[in-house]
Amino acid sequence: MTALAEAVVDLDAVAGNVRTIAAVAGTELMAVVKADGFGHGAPMVARAALGAGAGWLGVTSAAEALSLRAAGIAAPTLSWLHHPDEDFRALVDADVDVGVSTTTHLHAVADAAHRLGVPATVQLKVDTGLSRNGAGEHDWPELVGWARKYERDGGVRVRGVWSHLVDADVPGSPALSRQVVAFEDALRLARRAGLDPDLVHLANSAAALRAPAARFDLCRIGVALYGVDPFGATGPGNFGLRGAMTLRSSVVNVKRVPAGTGVSYGPEYVTGSPTTLALLPLGFADGLPRPAQGRAEVWLAGRRCPIVGRIAMDQCVVDVGDLPVSVGDPVVVFAPDQEGHAAPTVAEWARWAGTNPHEILTGIGARVARVHLHEKAEI
Ligand SMILES: *Cc1c(COP(=O)(O)O)cnc(C)c1O
Repeated sequence: MTALAEAVVDLDAVAGNVRTIAAVAGTELMAVVKADGFGHGAPMVARAALGAGAGWLGVTSAAEALSLRAAGIAAPTLSWLHHPDEDFRALVDADVDVGVSTTTHLHAVADAAHRLGVPATVQLKVDTGLSRNGAGEHDWPELVGWARKYERDGGVRVRGVWSHLVDADVPGSPALSRQVVAFEDALRLARRAGLDPDLVHLANSAAALRAPAARFDLCRIGVALYGVDPFGATGPGNFGLRGAMTLRSSVVNVKRVPAGTGVSYGPEYVTGSPTTLALLPLGFADGLPRPAQGRAEVWLAGRRCPIVGRIAMDQCVVDVGDLPVSVGDPVVVFAPDQEGHAAPTVAEWARWAGTNPHEILTGIGARVARVHLHEKAEI
């Protein structure tokens, strides 16, 4: 059986991006492999990143952390978003650091540690302006107070203090320096309460690359790990990041049609002259965003050709004009930005759909086969 579409992931690109970012940031790196490694395959990306020198893995949920452990990956891992009634025993037992933003969750972590008879390691998260998780300014003193108490009792060790940035990808944004100040205030308060965290972190990809004041002990890298410049640059000026994913498929049907032929549902596109239509076996269920209609292009027969008409759930249609296209011809939906290849990039797809590259990458459907190049078997 051959898959109708493939996402080919070059793990050497991931490894190279880790080295590139480490050279710029000069800190330890946490490879953020949430959402199945931004759709690239979390365990494979994790192994590639660790092999290239990343010291940490970051995930959103307990399920994600435990699936890394189930894949045999024992590296230091932080998980930060929890069910309201999370039972933390599984995470503590798997030696996963727990990102803690509330006293409720801190009590639950301490309870899990007590019941297991082993200490839990936590990293306390403070909100410095994003208004999502992270303890608010007024709750922070209570959170650090309880953390210190549990640390004294031996049930919990506070390894880290951390926060997340609002808009580090906007050069010169005033929010970033305000967040650094708020973060340092929170850190001072934690130290005054008797905590001595040895892993202090605030930076995401953008800050790792461009905001020295936000780097502290470690940078958490997401989108840049996958080769996307957080500032939107492609080619020279993108720090030497290399895209890791190529989304490709093949033509499954070809039709020569007269002028006036309607294409796909609606139809919202009608051919203006005799032309050739090529059918691709992927649609919005596979991650091609419907809002990209009217702008999106693919690489076919040595050039860029437009997707025409509505992108459907499973299929879309490309108007190839008079190009000689046959069933079985390869199609590149997007590819890493490389010299000598003019295929669309994931950044272009994001622009066409009015979204960010993160959403395109994480939206690639489960039906698209993942193929990994240069996979490391063990780490
Ligand atoms: C997703 C995420 C990151 C990675 O962000 P990028 O901008 O993709 O580098 C870092 N930290 C946290 C808390 C995140 O949720």
